Amino acid sequence: MSVFSDVSEFYINFQGKKGIIGYTEMKRPVYYVKVSFSESPVLIAQYAIHAREYITSYLAMMQAEDFRRRGRTGTVYFIPAVNPDGIFIAETKDPLYKANANGVDLNVNFDARWGSGAKNTRIRGAENYIGEFPFSESETRALRDFTLAVKPDITLSYHCKGEEIYWEFFQTGQKRKRDFYIARAVSEATGYPLKSAGISAGGYKDWCIEKLGISALTIEVGKDSLSHPIGKEHAGSIFSKNRNVVGAAITAFSEEKWN
Ligand SMILES: [Zn+2]
Repeated sequence: MSVFSDVSEFYINFQGKKGIIGYTEMKRPVYYVKVSFSESPVLIAQYAIHAREYITSYLAMMQAEDFRRRGRTGTVYFIPAVNPDGIFIAETKDPLYKANANGVDLNVNFDARWGSGAKNTRIRGAENYIGEFPFSESETRALRDFTLAVKPDITLSYHCKGEEIYWEFFQTGQKRKRDFYIARAVSEATGYPLKSAGISAGGYKDWCIEKLGISALTIEVGKDSLSHPIGKEHAGSIFSKNRNVVGAAITAFSEEKWN
């Protein structure tokens, strides 16, 4: 069984609203499932935009099922595999592969200080290539267009590894207070510390914060001592630490206590 077939099977069997945000460069569908208890707040949780981090796709499926059973308020769109073409390459050819089928690192292809990240390169390859221009790839365009249509209050971007949370991207004033408040709630829910990002740019979280003015977190799961790609046998323990993330983010947003 491949990751993509596991995600496809989950999608087919999922009892609830679901759809496709778009297609990859190799024309694979990028699925979402929707779990809704109230109109607001709205969250998008996206997983495995980096190919070798496909353990997060299994986390997505567990979180979506769990939220469907235990959720009370809010609407969450779960996107379990943003980069299925890259996942296929990581599974079959290059276990450390992060990029999409074109050798573009999708998480540096968003229009947020694009090309200014410390590790950015202009050389196509397994990681860090920013693409010819922002949103040059069908996967980043699909995630952009879906986000603009759904208008989330919060986005969660799941990566691995290191067990830490990134929440900053040049935000100031009230938005900074709000984002810190929500990040702290998610930190408490997981036990993962908040970290200041180094010089990164062009990520989905960065774009959500800078261009949409919403809260956006990058959550790095899996102990740093594990090696990429993290095996499926770790999905359960990762899920147990992330089980309350969606609920914590929704509660923190709804409390509006950051002033
Ligand atoms: Zn990553």
